[in-house]
Amino acid sequence: MNRPAAFTLAAALALLARAPGAAAPVEPAAQRAAREGMARLIAGEGVRDSAVLEAMRAVPRHEFVLAADRGRAYGDHPLPIGLGQTISQPYIVAFMTEAVGARRGIKVLEVGTGSGYQAAILSRIGCTVRTIEIFRELADQARGRLARLGFGDITVRHGDGHFGWPEAAPFDAILVTAAAGFVPPELVRELRPGGRMVIPVGSVYGVQTLILVEKDGSGEVRTRHLLPVRFVPMLSKPR
Ligand code: SAH
Repeated sequence: MNRPAAFTLAAALALLARAPGAAAPVEPAAQRAAREGMARLIAGEGVRDSAVLEAMRAVPRHEFVLAADRGRAYGDHPLPIGLGQTISQPYIVAFMTEAVGARRGIKVLEVGTGSGYQAAILSRIGCTVRTIEIFRELADQARGRLARLGFGDITVRHGDGHFGWPEAAPFDAILVTAAAGFVPPELVRELRPGGRMVIPVGSVYGVQTLILVEKDGSGEVRTRHLLPVRFVPMLSKPR
């Protein structure tokens, strides 16, 4: 009966590892410590929101990068995820999450799923997340990864995020994680009064500025420049 017993134990461990919200029983302490260091660095750079910092400490970024880059997953830099795309720098993820006022219970749209990491951070905070990715391959990968890691409340769609997700609008917050040439009017329309959007705007290889778009209670829109950034370009044909 040795083999069946061993299988049962393995199956139980696998289940435990997959249960949403369960502490991962097999995660090396080194990864937790590296993540702790990353969160400290981000706090040192000025991110104050405790829910954002908790999410940065909790979500296993090494699961969202290429296998060869796992050892570098907790440095404060972007990393390649294939197809010429990147997972954003952790500080920028935290900064954008704080800037849109992410908090438990709000409905959020992300444009540019990429690896799914930003969506996972939002989900960990307690947001309901919808996210759009223009590469089918990346959308499929992110969907599988997020399900495997227990982020069941994130819906991933393959398509062009310029047009948002009208059936699910309005959103309390919108995060665009690719650089746009302009602020897409559809996205502004899909923002709830009182809602906020962050979006990098600018030329592909030149200067880009992260812009905060705020829609007040009466529907009036104001924009503010937050900081210079560098994102991959927002594309316009699903592929
Ligand atoms: N937020 C991601 C990183 C984004 S990189 C993460 O956490 O990993 C930007 C992503 O935007 C890329 O995956 C790119 O393919 C995607 N993208 C570019 N243009 C897009 C568009 N018009 N609609 C949706 N996704 C787009």
